[in-house]
Amino acid sequence: MTSASAERPDDRLYGGTVGTAAEPESVLLPGHDVPLGRYTTVRRLLPQRERRMVGAWCFVDHFGPEDVTGRPGMQVPPHPHTGLQTVTWLVDGEIVHRDSLGSDQSIRPGQLNLMSAGSGISHSEMSPAEHPAGMHGLQLWVALPEEARHGEPRFEHHAHLPVRQDGDATVTVLVGRFGSAESPAGVHTPLVGVEVVVRGPGSYRLPLEPTFEYGVLSMSGAVDVAGTTVTPGSLLYLTPGRSELTIETPGEARAFLLGGEPFEEELVMWWNFVGRSHEEVVQAREDWMAGRRFGRVSGCSADPLPAPALPTVRLLARDRHGRTVR
Ligand code: MN
Repeated sequence: MTSASAERPDDRLYGGTVGTAAEPESVLLPGHDVPLGRYTTVRRLLPQRERRMVGAWCFVDHFGPEDVTGRPGMQVPPHPHTGLQTVTWLVDGEIVHRDSLGSDQSIRPGQLNLMSAGSGISHSEMSPAEHPAGMHGLQLWVALPEEARHGEPRFEHHAHLPVRQDGDATVTVLVGRFGSAESPAGVHTPLVGVEVVVRGPGSYRLPLEPTFEYGVLSMSGAVDVAGTTVTPGSLLYLTPGRSELTIETPGEARAFLLGGEPFEEELVMWWNFVGRSHEEVVQAREDWMAGRRFGRVSGCSADPLPAPALPTVRLLARDRHGRTVR
């Protein structure tokens, strides 16, 4: 990220892309509220009807900020996953992650939990009995490409991520490479995930990868991006073709930038499974309900979540624009 005060020539005027490529476009996608577990409601920003993904990011939930004093906080009992990675990021609160590999890991603000399901894993995410008053964070899913989705399950906890200070902005790189900083998190497609926290009015330039599409969300405050004001509850989608992005903030704000190369594989997403066909998802559901494949989460007192009933129609694979594939 560079300060906006260092003006550079406009690439479109000086040997840029005029007449050779479509202008990059942006579209503001409103999210919707979804209950998660018994005690939490999240804002779901992806997938959306016609915009299923940003790169391999295929699921974005924003929860809080809320006061969970005297309440259980996050209580998500054991449940299975296939074909994806979960990325958990907190700015307030505490969650204990337990999984079928035996992981038992508390996550706190500024840390990253990254779980790779491969062909099957189960986990629980529960706030401990004694927890902070606040709860605020993101849970994101990354679709695994064909060559990684049948692999072994894996869990990574990163207590220390690259953090850059640029004037009034603090930039944390959760996933991928951003400028000269690179996250240690292991991913399988070209991908980036960055948090930008600003403490007051300002203007910041973020370096972008022109081959990536991007999404910008606000966790708190307002951010002006590409002529649009983004506030909590919506995701601004940006088509590929940009080499930088200016973020302007009228005051304090916490923004999150997602990006990646457009994901070309069609997916069947149902409940906690990311697959490629109806049959795969039916098999995963059967295996979970029969106690096969996904192991057991030890140390979690809550009963495993039963899978919901399948719809009466076949599940269809969809591309990243939501178009069905037959
Ligand atoms: Mn999960």
